[in-house]
Amino acid sequence: MADEAQIIDGKSIARAIRGEVADSVAALVAKGHRPPGLAVVLVGDDPASAAYVRSKGRACEEAGIYSVQETLLPTTTQQELLGVIDRLNCDLRIHGILVQLPLPKHINEQSIVEAISPAKDVDGFHPLNVGRLAGGMECFVPCTPLGVRELLIRSGIQTQGARAVVIGRSNIVGLPMAQLLMGRGEGGDATVTVCHSRTADLSELTRQADILIAAIGRAGFVTGDMIKPGATVIDVGINRVDDAEAEKGYRLVGDVDFDSARQVAGAITPVPGGVGPMTIAMLLRNTLESAQTWARADVRG
Ligand code: NAD
Repeated sequence: MADEAQIIDGKSIARAIRGEVADSVAALVAKGHRPPGLAVVLVGDDPASAAYVRSKGRACEEAGIYSVQETLLPTTTQQELLGVIDRLNCDLRIHGILVQLPLPKHINEQSIVEAISPAKDVDGFHPLNVGRLAGGMECFVPCTPLGVRELLIRSGIQTQGARAVVIGRSNIVGLPMAQLLMGRGEGGDATVTVCHSRTADLSELTRQADILIAAIGRAGFVTGDMIKPGATVIDVGINRVDDAEAEKGYRLVGDVDFDSARQVAGAITPVPGGVGPMTIAMLLRNTLESAQTWARADVRG
């Protein structure tokens, strides 16, 4: 049997980052500045979204970040939601605004994203930040791909000159992931191929990847035979599969078939415990960096 892959422990890397954020928050406050503040807006009562929002609140608290949760009724109108965002845009205690997606169908998601001040857009979804990322300028970068880049850097995976293949082209994961990998500097300078649902000969392309990133949303889609021996495999997917033996009746699996992939890969992220914890860590870091920027501008209110 071939050597099994090194497991990239996202949980412990994320814990380290959260510790660093907490130290920087304390240093900011010690200088007389406000603590960073994050507002999370949730419309409706979807239990999965509510659970995500609660875990973001807990993570903020641990890091010394002030957090508020705005929970709005599912019947909230677009106008009312825009009013909430307007208020948060003007609130000097708040440096990051996150609207939990998806929103109810009667609300136009894009116009809500565009209403968030780009200077508080810690999710990096505002078109100004999207454009700045495309232009290689400083900006807020979406937390999940940012977390993947951080995982690669902190695990000592060489990206410069590497062949990276990203499966998935969503605005939230695949596209910004590809842009980060092809960008200049640490965690970038890779040669990137982006694959999607219309890609022909997918396996032929994935087998060329030194770094393979799966962001598809299909359980166990990437199997060992699609992976180049020794490659680094990053599994962004989070999929629920029925499991009668699990307490909740389901378990979470990635887009990669872990058992076959770990026989071929050189390094691999598990699900859960890989990319997931990094997303929240990056949200905290983006909120901290936003507060540091506001502090440099000496905005005290
Ligand atoms: P999405 O549905 O917006 O995009 C999926 C992408 O996969 C699309 O670009 C599509 O072209 C591609 N795709 C679909 N079928 C394909 C196929 N047969 N072959 C090749 N490509 C195919 O999803 P998303 O928002 O990008 O999320 C992807 C996965 O990542 C989901 O499982 C999601 O739950 C997970 N996710 C995890 C985190 C995290 O924190 N770990 C954050 C965001 C998303």
